[in-house]
Amino acid sequence: MSVVCRWLGSIIKTKHIIFLTNVHLNNVFIRKPNIISFSTKPLLPNSQHLRFLSNSQYEEDCWNCKAKTKRVNNFMCDECGKLQDITKIHDFFELLSLPRDFDVPSTKLTKTFRQLQTLVHPDKFGNKSEREQTNAAEWSALINKAYKTLLNPLFRGQYLLKLQGEQMPQDNSTLNKEFLMEMMERNEEVDDAETKEDLNQINKNIQEELNGEINHLKELFKSNDLNGAKALLVKIKYLLSIQNSIQVKLEKLNG
Ligand SMILES: [Zn+2]
Repeated sequence: MSVVCRWLGSIIKTKHIIFLTNVHLNNVFIRKPNIISFSTKPLLPNSQHLRFLSNSQYEEDCWNCKAKTKRVNNFMCDECGKLQDITKIHDFFELLSLPRDFDVPSTKLTKTFRQLQTLVHPDKFGNKSEREQTNAAEWSALINKAYKTLLNPLFRGQYLLKLQGEQMPQDNSTLNKEFLMEMMERNEEVDDAETKEDLNQINKNIQEELNGEINHLKELFKSNDLNGAKALLVKIKYLLSIQNSIQVKLEKLNG
């Protein structure tokens, strides 16, 4: 990922960039310094101008009353109550008040999601200023996207990789031949199945296998084995795609 910094006049290439925001004079504010690493040098000629802010120090000026307001997941200004703009790239885990971990408690995730959606729901801002209406729509879309990403194990795993500057293989060229053969055979098994019962049985077996693999993925992310996690995510993606083929075939059989 590259960011052109118009204040420093250089391209900042970062492996893990969470956000660059709020430039006050020559200061670039970067949060979460512990997970930012720069991949090439020299990147920031004025590194003395960098200010690292922790969450609790993070302040912004309200667009309406100009008050400096501490807002982490506080969408409204503390002073005037106006819904604020989205001014940084949000970490979905932070947005939904969860630790950055693959093992997400889905009840808590859904509860927090609903609370946030209620807070910024566009219907609540129908008679407010245009800026607040736009902000409500944008917050709402962002919260939805964060929720969908963290709820689905495959998307969540991919997102965790992305946060650490990694990604799943984009094509089959790096995949193990034996693995590809196995997946091909499993697809053929679906092609050959002729009854709903057979398809349901294959589906059930895949689901059990998926549950096991998702538990295994929790361990891999816990021990920060990203290569292991990548390989397992590829397998999960294939299994989900086979399940999808089963659903398509079942729908056809059901007429
Ligand atoms: Zn304000």
